[in-house]
Amino acid sequence: MNRFQSIKLFTVFVIGFTFLQACQNTTETSNFKEQEHPNITKLKGQSAEFTPEIIQLNESVYVAVGYDGSNASMVVGEDGVVIIDALRALGAAEKVAEEFQKISSKPVKAIIYTHGHEDHTGGASAFVGYNKNVKVIAREGFKEELQEHSPVEPILKRRNGRQFGRDLPAEDVINRGVGPGNTSADRVGEGYIEPNILFKDVKTLRLAGIDFELHAANGETNDELFVWIPSLKTLFTGDNYYKSFPNLYAIRGSQYRDVKAWGESIQKMSTYPVEFLVPGHTRPLTGQALVHRNLKNYSTAILSVYQQTIDAMNKGYTLQQTVDEVKLADSLINQPNLQEFYGSVPWGVRSVFLHYVGWFDGNPTNLSPLSSIQESKHMIALAGGEAKIYEQMKTALDKGDYQWGLQLSDYLLQSDFEKQKVIETKIKLLRALAAQQINAPARNYYLSYAYELENKQKEEL
Ligand SMILES: [Zn+2]
Repeated sequence: MNRFQSIKLFTVFVIGFTFLQACQNTTETSNFKEQEHPNITKLKGQSAEFTPEIIQLNESVYVAVGYDGSNASMVVGEDGVVIIDALRALGAAEKVAEEFQKISSKPVKAIIYTHGHEDHTGGASAFVGYNKNVKVIAREGFKEELQEHSPVEPILKRRNGRQFGRDLPAEDVINRGVGPGNTSADRVGEGYIEPNILFKDVKTLRLAGIDFELHAANGETNDELFVWIPSLKTLFTGDNYYKSFPNLYAIRGSQYRDVKAWGESIQKMSTYPVEFLVPGHTRPLTGQALVHRNLKNYSTAILSVYQQTIDAMNKGYTLQQTVDEVKLADSLINQPNLQEFYGSVPWGVRSVFLHYVGWFDGNPTNLSPLSSIQESKHMIALAGGEAKIYEQMKTALDKGDYQWGLQLSDYLLQSDFEKQKVIETKIKLLRALAAQQINAPARNYYLSYAYELENKQKEEL
């Protein structure tokens, strides 16, 4: 029976589009045809955060959400407007600029970049046209830490593609955690304009008749800032805040993100009487009590992950023991803004651990471990042969013990045992894991890797 026939037969028994959709990717895998995992339902729910919309926040502030991967905002002043963040693709930014123009045709006086990531800077020229006199403001050290010219750029690029699911077929795409599943590829980065005003710690300036305060605020990057407009009680957080547990470490591969400074930056924001909060991604928030509560639990969560990691390290715990130990308190774990759609607690813990001590976790066993081939030979012998491990791998798949199955697959892939069969099972394990992730980067990574393996197999046939 070919794939088409099997789907046709299936529809006889199955009514309901949603169910069919859930099964679409797994026609070959018998063990998770049933129901959508609750984590996937939650992740799909998160997509409501990026429905394209220009949100009017108060009499002067407009926020464009869902037009690209991040937000761009416009503050309307007396004799002009100020743009805060400029999206990634020039094509997407042009659409937003057009919408902003309909609201106010006053000239753009300034662009403020909350940080140097391309998804906040790449579309700037869409807002200013040919006007070269516009102030473009950012922090000193702007974009310095970006790994655009890293010696490991080729692998960073591949990992980036996996984290964001850039090559995934449409039916596998849900979202990217804090952004839509697909973003515009229309002239990405081509609208970037270099900043012409840089500042160090704090800068206050009057733009279009409105007083702006810009504060250095390390966190996701070391060039991050937040913008506070006292007269409008509006605060723009950059990427230090969005509706998800923060991405303290990016699995695409990134330099250390200063976790302690990140928590402290949010703590500082929470001391302002903020009525309107504009995150770098996801929808803005309104209401002082709500904003305060959200900023408070965000900083508490970050600083708690940091401190628990430090405490466990000082007790002499290994890396994995530290990961096993650190948990968010019950009072935080169910907060809507701390769900792990984008960042993950264990990834943050690993990042802090490695930042302070490097690769050696203190356990002498790990000082000079066996090579992966040696280790796999020993494990295969211990298990009673490759076939036994392969059986265990399949059992792990059937029983839902997917991570264990993956770990077993790596032993077999170091041996000469039937690679084709092992990889086929590994692909199923990766897809099964993906089908239960609340975390979009993890889901995208598992699925992308599965597709890469599948394509490689096709090539070899
Ligand atoms: Zn961003």
